Amino acid sequence: MSAITKKTLKGHVGFSNYPDQVHRKSIKKGFNFTLMVVGEASIGKSTLINTLFETKIFPEREDSVVTELSKGVEITTMSADILDNNVKLRLTVVDTPGFGNSLNNDNSWTPIIENIDSRFDSYLAQENRLIHSKIQDNRIDALIYFIKPTGHSLRQIDIEFLKRLHTKVNLIPIISKADTLTSEELVGFKQRILADISAHNIQIFKPTTTDLYDDLETIRDNKETLSKIPFAVIGSENFVELPDGSRVRARKYPWGIIQVDDPETNDFRTLRRMLIYNHMEDLRDYTNTVLYEEYRTQSLLAMGHFQDNSVFKEYNPALIAEEDRKLHDIKLQKMEAEMNAVFQQKVVEKESKLKQSEEELYSRHKDMKLSLEKQRKALEDKKKLIEANARPVTPMDKSKKKGLFNL
Ligand code: GDP
Repeated sequence: MSAITKKTLKGHVGFSNYPDQVHRKSIKKGFNFTLMVVGEASIGKSTLINTLFETKIFPEREDSVVTELSKGVEITTMSADILDNNVKLRLTVVDTPGFGNSLNNDNSWTPIIENIDSRFDSYLAQENRLIHSKIQDNRIDALIYFIKPTGHSLRQIDIEFLKRLHTKVNLIPIISKADTLTSEELVGFKQRILADISAHNIQIFKPTTTDLYDDLETIRDNKETLSKIPFAVIGSENFVELPDGSRVRARKYPWGIIQVDDPETNDFRTLRRMLIYNHMEDLRDYTNTVLYEEYRTQSLLAMGHFQDNSVFKEYNPALIAEEDRKLHDIKLQKMEAEMNAVFQQKVVEKESKLKQSEEELYSRHKDMKLSLEKQRKALEDKKKLIEANARPVTPMDKSKKKGLFNL
């Protein structure tokens, strides 16, 4: 490996502007974020998403749809282009209506897992294409799991779901409708949820601080965020006018109002800061570099591409390079196989053409032979006929010729 020397420039070359170029380019291109929401009907999913993004992403729903017993989990997708200070975000929300709404909720996570896997599969297939010009990335960047505000602890269905999904997606468990619990109830509820999560070794998304790069504000934010997990949130599509004339999102009660954005009453603001303001890119990055990589490795192993799976047990650049080389070889093999298939096809076509012309030649030869045979036979017949008609010359004929009988 060649040694790298550190050089500090005396003059100005200009690459310190590179981050600005990246910044400008990404602003021009815009960003994509795909969020999945899971929780039983009427738990507050659409209200919270519309509140978080200040946009009506979820269409109006009829109450009857919300309350009826579902036959199973469906997957529906909604997308919206949101502009915030001239930065464009293509937000896709994947809803899972029907989850937890059946009489028997066993396996209600299966369609959700299948959906997440199929998004990974689609990405993997695009990556393995020889030309991957424009990869469509539909992978789920985060999953908000809505915990019912029971005040007890996680239910069996919550545990089963979280246990099955934590290796596939960034999980953000939240307690919905926090206004239905008192602040004391919330403290105990959060503790029991965290205890369940830890007892079952469930990995949830937690912001990490890199002291080297993060500024003080981010470090402080991260600390506060960690202290509020699982976030207890309130959502509202309605605005209330305050005495100072400002309009705020809030829920109205006979005794007063609760502002959605009030950190004293709920964690909506912390959730929004974590999800959108501070860690949207971290969520995307973790999905790509950890969750998807794991899925990709397992898929390739299942396809038998690697015999020795111990190579993935630790980070080792040489082994990673080896993996890349193997992938490259697989691509080459695929290409070679495709070229071979085309070649074989061409050979088969040529052979069949040759065979056809050989058959034609043979049949023409046969026709010609038959016709010659016919001609030969006809000539023979003619000859026989002529021979049959020809009599031998008699003495009388000779006399006639000499004129003896003309006397
Ligand atoms: P979804 O079926 O999970 O999408 O639930 P919705 O968002 O449609 O909410 C169902 C009902 O719960 C609606 O009447 C909402 O106004 C109400 N709701 C939503 N969020 C909250 C909340 O934070 N607190 C309270 N008390 N009600 C809420």
